[in-house]
Amino acid sequence: MRTAAVLRDIYHRLLAHFGPQHWWPGGSPFEIMTGAILTQNTNWSNVAKAIANLKAAGLLAPAQLAALSAGELAEIIRPAGYHNLKAARLKNLLALIAEQGGVETLLAQPTAMLRELLLGVKGIGPETADSIVLYAAGRPVFVVDAYTHRILFRHGLISEDCDYFQMQELFMDHLEEDAALFNEYHALIVRVGKEFCKKSKPRCEGCPLSAAGEEDFLSQQAWHLQDDLI
Ligand code: SF4
Repeated sequence: MRTAAVLRDIYHRLLAHFGPQHWWPGGSPFEIMTGAILTQNTNWSNVAKAIANLKAAGLLAPAQLAALSAGELAEIIRPAGYHNLKAARLKNLLALIAEQGGVETLLAQPTAMLRELLLGVKGIGPETADSIVLYAAGRPVFVVDAYTHRILFRHGLISEDCDYFQMQELFMDHLEEDAALFNEYHALIVRVGKEFCKKSKPRCEGCPLSAAGEEDFLSQQAWHLQDDLI
């Protein structure tokens, strides 16, 4: 089985087990952008509380947030954790949005430019930038994260020191450029990571990526992927 087939196989196993994940769990592009920053280093239930606070106060829009001081914003988003840091990061993103003439204008930039602009914002790294590019702008950029690394590494599909860009390339070089596919695939990886492939100990029994009782599809094909990651 070639690399593309292995990656598609993983995807189909996850989709068959979990079904569509309906990401991103947020309404407007600005809500998604805000959520992408708030979700750094925390789980989504905390983010949802912070977003609910913003919505209840009628503040989930760039102009309204920009009118708040960093301190006021930090208090409202406190449930998301690291609230002072995240308030500063949101302020940095708001500055970029204002500089670009609004959310729509920013998100209409060509993909590479949009990514570069986002990466230029202090506090926005590759995962957050790509989440915005994929989920807010709908562009076909694959988002990888700690779950992706853990799962691929535990199956011997990548080396331990495989970095963000190598993992991203692995998916983007072998799957069709399809924002809907990338959207669903990343969401499914997060789901299996949370439910089965826990950091402390994997729960392989019942996991859709466990090959128990079948051809050991992942470990047998691992060398194909390793070849791609020099
Ligand atoms: S829980 Fe086990 S089978 Fe599932 S992804 Fe992790 S290592 Fe693979």
